[in-house]
Amino acid sequence: MDIQLLTQRIPVGISQCAVGDPVRFNGGHKHSKVCTQLLSRCFELHPYCPEVAIGLGVPRPPIHLIVSDRLRAVGRDDPGMDVTDALEDYADRIAPQVAQLRGFILMQKSPSCGLRTTPHFKADGPDTLAHGAGLFAARLREHFPHLPLEEVGRLNASDIRENFLTRVFAYDAWHRYVEPDPRPGRVIDFYAAYKYLLLAHHQKLTRELGQFVSDVRALTPAQFAFEVRGRIMEILAHLANRKDRTNALMHSQGHLNEFLSREERAELAQLIEDYRQGLKPLSAVLTMLRHYLPRSPHQFIHSQVLLAAEPAELGLCDFR
Ligand code: SF4
Repeated sequence: MDIQLLTQRIPVGISQCAVGDPVRFNGGHKHSKVCTQLLSRCFELHPYCPEVAIGLGVPRPPIHLIVSDRLRAVGRDDPGMDVTDALEDYADRIAPQVAQLRGFILMQKSPSCGLRTTPHFKADGPDTLAHGAGLFAARLREHFPHLPLEEVGRLNASDIRENFLTRVFAYDAWHRYVEPDPRPGRVIDFYAAYKYLLLAHHQKLTRELGQFVSDVRALTPAQFAFEVRGRIMEILAHLANRKDRTNALMHSQGHLNEFLSREERAELAQLIEDYRQGLKPLSAVLTMLRHYLPRSPHQFIHSQVLLAAEPAELGLCDFR
């Protein structure tokens, strides 16, 4: 599996109010410039508004979620208005479209679109029992358990944004490389190419995944592919930290050392140490590793996604 740079925009769903369309219950929007001006450089944004789609109109009476026999979406001022089934049916109906998407950006706190911040109220009072997903978002997660999801507001933070981009790139790569031919050999190739990037996100889970893929005959090919994809997406959902990245960079250097002079080895090791201490950016280390990469004849290190252009280098992590 060769490292491939991004050459075309990746289809990603988004709550429609986040692109600036006035579809909120009060006729307003919640435009996110991070989404429409920055992420749109690499994402082809597909807007969806579940509440408008089920015919609630704009403006409309607000709804909220109550904990009853189950979680229900009812009118905030008219509990007799129950749109629970309508919202879930809508998510079911558009599932074939969402299957073509490689991520979904959801509006926080919404009874339909929130991912983890939506209040779940007591059925008979104003108290909040918990915070969690809105009904549309929860149904999406049931249909597509590995689809990268994120809330609009959290994408204002550059580390969360970088993490979401990394997950979308990985999910997209999986659909291009493995999905059309999900034989175990290709699943293992995919894991191998992601190995050092995964290490940078979570060392322990990556080692466990390494053990898991070594016993490929324990499951059917379809189950094996599903399980590996799920574990990869779970590992990537952890934010990469400097310590784990340093470890992954040192592993990468280990594959190149035999092709470097003593001075070059020392210079590269010092650069990685400077990165570990926060004195040099990641891009400086990656640039030097890539510079030495052609000296190695070994496919494993050439295939490492860790050494491909990362989101910060694509200019997608800084936004003012
Ligand atoms: S949060 Fe979702 S349902 Fe509410 S206005 Fe935005 S897109 Fe529509």
